[in-house]
Amino acid sequence: MPDEQKEIIEEASNQQGWTRRRVFNAASLAAIGGAALTGLPAQKAAAQEGKKVEPLEEFKYDLEKQTHWVGPGGSAKEATVEEFPVSQSIAGVSMRLDPGAIRELHWHSLAAEWAYMLEGRCRATVITPEGQADIADFGVGDTWYFPRGHGHVLQNLGPGPCHFLLVFDNGHFSEFGTFSATDWINNTPPEILSRNLGLPTSAFGAFPKKELYIGPGRVPPQNLEPFRNADIQPAQGNHKYRLDHVKPHVYPGGSEYVVSSVEFPMQTTLTAVKMTLQPGALREMHWHPHADEWQYYVKGRSRVRIFGSHGRAKEEEFGPGQVAFIKQGYGHYIEQLGNEETEILVLFNSGVYQEISLSNWLGGNPVSILETNFGISRATIDRLPTKESGIFGKRA
Ligand code: MN
Ligand code: MN
Repeated sequence: MPDEQKEIIEEASNQQGWTRRRVFNAASLAAIGGAALTGLPAQKAAAQEGKKVEPLEEFKYDLEKQTHWVGPGGSAKEATVEEFPVSQSIAGVSMRLDPGAIRELHWHSLAAEWAYMLEGRCRATVITPEGQADIADFGVGDTWYFPRGHGHVLQNLGPGPCHFLLVFDNGHFSEFGTFSATDWINNTPPEILSRNLGLPTSAFGAFPKKELYIGPGRVPPQNLEPFRNADIQPAQGNHKYRLDHVKPHVYPGGSEYVVSSVEFPMQTTLTAVKMTLQPGALREMHWHPHADEWQYYVKGRSRVRIFGSHGRAKEEEFGPGQVAFIKQGYGHYIEQLGNEETEILVLFNSGVYQEISLSNWLGGNPVSILETNFGISRATIDRLPTKESGIFGKRA
C-alpha cells in the first residue's frame, strides 16, 4: 500500500464513525475515486484533474416556519438531515407544551439531548444506567443534558405554555423516531406484560393504543414529589445547568455565555454558547478546528458569511426561529443587522470548545512572512491586529 494512502486510512479510522462517513460524503464520488487511487485529499485531486468543485450547500433552515407535529398538548418542529441535509452532526427541535402536558417517557437510541428553556417552566425526570434517578425543574435560561439512551420525561409546570429548544448530537436523529414507553408496551404480548408489570392481562386494555408522544395533562403539585421507590439513589451527576447564570465573556460588541464539559461534566458531546450581539456588532472572522457549529436565532437579525475554500463563500441573513449550520473548519463571521440586539443559541458537536481567529493567526507570524505572503508594506502590516477581539462594537 502506498504510504500516502495508508496515512489517509489511518487518519479516517481515528475519528468517530459518523465523522468518517461525513468525510467521504463531502466529496463527489468521482473525486473520491481519484483520491483513493492517488492518496491525495479529494478536493486537491479534483482540482488537479480540472473537475468542478461542488458549490457550498444551503446552510440556512427556517425551523419555526414548519408545522411538523401538532396535537393535543403541544407541538414539535424539527431540523434533521431530512429537512436540512448539511446538518449531519446536529439536529434541532422546537417544542411547545400546554400547561400540564407531558412529553412522554422515552429515550433516544442515537443521540444525547440538550435543551434550553425559552419560555415557561417544565419538570423533567431522568433514569441513568447507574440506577440513579433525577428530578428537576427548569425555567427560562436553564439547560439540561441527557446522555444518549437515558430515559426521560418532561411536563409543563404551568401556568402558561412552555417552549424549549432541543438539540441532539446527531443530525440523523428524529424526534419522531424515539423509543417511547407506550409504543413498547403496545408491542409486547399481554402475557409478558402481565408477568413483567404485575397486572392481569385485562389491565392493559386501558393503556394508550398507540404511541402517546405528547399528551395533555394536569399541572402537577409545584413541590417536587417523591419517587415511587423511596430507596432509589438520587442522581450523583447533575443533568441541569443554568446557562443564563454563567459569567459571560464580555466584548465591546456583545457577550458569550459558554458552557462546555469543563463547566458541566455531564455535557460530554456538546458545547453550548448563548451569544448576544449589540446593534452594529461584528463577531470576528474565525473557524472551529474540530467541531461543526449549529445556530438558532432567538431574537434580532444577523448576516453570516461562510468560507468553504476553493473560492467558495456564501452568505445568508438570519432572524428569529431560523437555524444556521457551519461545517467544521469553515471560516465565518457574524454581522449584526438592525436596531434590536441579536441573541443566538450556538451548539458545537464537541464537549471541548476550540476556535482560531484570523487576528490571532496574523499576530502569530513574523512581519516578513506577512510581507511576502500578502505583498504589503511593513507600515500596513503594523496596522493589522495582533490578537483576537471576539466581538467588535459598532463602528465609530
Ligand atoms: Mn427526549
Ligand atoms: Mn463560530
